[in-house]
Amino acid sequence: MTYVVTSKLNGFQLDVKGRVQGIGFRPFVFRLATSLGLCGSVKNTAVSVEIKLNADLSLVEHFSQLLIQQCPRPGFIESITREPHQFLVQPNGFSILPSLSEGEECTLSFPPDLAICPACIQELINPTDRRYQYPLINCTQCGPRYTIIHDIPYDRTHTSMAAFPMCVDCQTEYNNPLSRRFHAEPICCSTCGPAIWFQQNTKPREEGKTRRTISDSLKICVEQLIQGKIIAIKGIGGFHLVCDATNESTIRLLRTRKQRPSKPLAIMFKDRQHIHSYFSCTSNVMQQCLKLLESKPAPIVLLSKTYLTQALPAEIAPRQHLLGVMLAYSPLHWLLLDSIKKPLIMTSANPPGEPICITNNLALQQLKPFADGWLLHDRNINHRCDDSVINIINNKPQLIRRARGFVPDSLPIPDQLEHGLLKEKYLLALGADLKNCFGITIGANALLSSYQGDLANSACLQAMQQNLKEMQTLLKLPENSLQAVVVDSHPDYYSSHFGRKIAEKYQTPIIQVQHHHAHFASCLFENQVLPDQPVLGIIFDGLGFGDDGTFWGGEFLLGDYASVQRVANLKPFPLLGGDKANKQPWRNLIALLAQSDCLQQTKNILTTQNIAQEEINTLLKLSHRFPLSSSVGRLFDAVAALLNIVPYEQTFEGEAAMQLEALASYYKGQATPTELFKIIPQHKRLLLDSSPLWYFLIEQLNNKEKKTKLAFIFLNSFVEGVFQTIISLQQQGKQFHSIALSGGVFQNAFLLSTLQNKLESEGFTVYTPQQIPCNDSGIALGQIAVALAQTEIKNNGHLCA
Ligand SMILES: [Zn+2]
Ligand SMILES: [Zn+2]
Repeated sequence: MTYVVTSKLNGFQLDVKGRVQGIGFRPFVFRLATSLGLCGSVKNTAVSVEIKLNADLSLVEHFSQLLIQQCPRPGFIESITREPHQFLVQPNGFSILPSLSEGEECTLSFPPDLAICPACIQELINPTDRRYQYPLINCTQCGPRYTIIHDIPYDRTHTSMAAFPMCVDCQTEYNNPLSRRFHAEPICCSTCGPAIWFQQNTKPREEGKTRRTISDSLKICVEQLIQGKIIAIKGIGGFHLVCDATNESTIRLLRTRKQRPSKPLAIMFKDRQHIHSYFSCTSNVMQQCLKLLESKPAPIVLLSKTYLTQALPAEIAPRQHLLGVMLAYSPLHWLLLDSIKKPLIMTSANPPGEPICITNNLALQQLKPFADGWLLHDRNINHRCDDSVINIINNKPQLIRRARGFVPDSLPIPDQLEHGLLKEKYLLALGADLKNCFGITIGANALLSSYQGDLANSACLQAMQQNLKEMQTLLKLPENSLQAVVVDSHPDYYSSHFGRKIAEKYQTPIIQVQHHHAHFASCLFENQVLPDQPVLGIIFDGLGFGDDGTFWGGEFLLGDYASVQRVANLKPFPLLGGDKANKQPWRNLIALLAQSDCLQQTKNILTTQNIAQEEINTLLKLSHRFPLSSSVGRLFDAVAALLNIVPYEQTFEGEAAMQLEALASYYKGQATPTELFKIIPQHKRLLLDSSPLWYFLIEQLNNKEKKTKLAFIFLNSFVEGVFQTIISLQQQGKQFHSIALSGGVFQNAFLLSTLQNKLESEGFTVYTPQQIPCNDSGIALGQIAVALAQTEIKNNGHLCA
């Protein structure tokens, strides 16, 4: 008799890895298993979803096939491992078991936040539905995830929703396999869920929380927005300052209060139809944009103003050709837009330079100078997560800011590099200071943190340190299992200091990676390139500390993950006034004009820009004392200064470069490429010298040539100069077929697309950044790649394939 019992108890255990938590995966498994008449169970573990099936092999194989084919989006299955399993008791039916936290390593991909789904919107507007107009409605397909989680596995008890016990109705839905909220962890309704209330800036705290209903609070908020007030609204990853996007004077008020004279502001529309009433959407590019806008991460997408069919105030993005647009991604946003029937300005709510507010208390204190009122709720945000930003360049989306909707998704480490990881250890990379993001390896993947801001601001530095600690806790990565800490080679970066402190404390090696090498490696990493011969990295950015102690930023690097050789660069010039030269574009103009010996010809031009001759003379006299830089970012600043399209001091980082791109994009004519750069061999390198450019521009300005045309010619000639440098390198005998483009300057769509097209038409393979920002926020992944390659070589003498 024994064998009969055994066979009835036989079965298999499947361990499913990938993004399989927080997307309705267990309910999906439940439905699939019951539809096939299978008995067994499913549960989340810290590292996978574990499925036990009381079935024979062929049925289990069939089940696995369907699992992969029908996995609910935005989930995906990375791997399914299978082993025989002996049940102690024969299962009667299929069940979802409570989670068990276990496992030493954490390789689980837990989900980012998901934009509201169509089914929830239908309930939101249905007066007979019990969640009618409830602003925190969600289901297994939508709602907050990463921002409310504080531990894994992803279960309600490990989220901010643990504070809200389910009512009977919600509990019934949660337990019902036929409900679309079956095991929806953040499930709630107006009876059991978080409260929403409005608070006026003038009234004492907490007033109104108990007196007003949710719908009254929303009504007051909408009335205030219509009246032109600025309201701080708690979103998914933080607070926004919100106002009517059609009201020019309110936008001006917002700019004054935030001391943000011209940095572009993002606009939120309700849905596709709402976009249609402002933009012509027939072009392929706009169709691609709409798809991105409606995707689960619901990022800000940069749309060209040329598609506008109904005017919006110029104040939203003065002198820019792009508008940052997003769709309502939370039910709260959706309800506000549905009732106000106008687009809304949504900008991160923070004191200048500080991290975005996430707690009610801080928002009430810190946003007092900016907001006329607050729309609050008491579902805690555990992780700060700014809106992500995407630009479409050459028909491909490029992430400029990677945060909400993308974090904490990780990227696979290219196979070859993976060998550099020691067993049960992990790497921590601290990125750069400006636009900081840190990176962590989790098993064979690397995770890039959300956007942490500029670490020179002490609040951002503190927030980053806090975020890192939370991430280590969440991923169950103790500091004592660190393999190494990777930092930028800049001796004075806050991130480098912090990294050294951690390394010292845990007696862990510290690995320094040169800034532009990290940019280069980050581009190769995300493109999963395993080079078998050197790749040319063209890395253009603001500034990074170079191996020779000067500041680099216009670099041609030949090599791979492990090492690079600097084979060419923009001819260095002094940063007049040191750090001030990063903020005041005219200082770089003076430096470059002096270098090219044409300062005399520009006296008139400079006088009209209020740059005193005396100041120029003093700076030039001291020029040998200032650090040298080969920065393309500063070259662009100088051109913008000569064209007089930027203020004396930039009001935000990248302003000059953005103005230049906008101007060039407005030019609709043709221009023959002109040789405005010359290539000078020096020692073992090539220098790209901009002297001819200045003579040309001065002459054209004196001839009153249009600035749009000059910006257009400049960008095209620069591309030509870059191309000629590449040809010269090949003539010198340098061998390469592939080119990687990275660094913040490549956020310039005009530059990236022109250069990429040119290089591809000449037969080169070109790698460009897409999922990982090309600016400094993508550097941490490059640091990880370089550290892994160097470790592997140290251990084995070479990179193992
Ligand atoms: Zn939903
Ligand atoms: Zn409820």
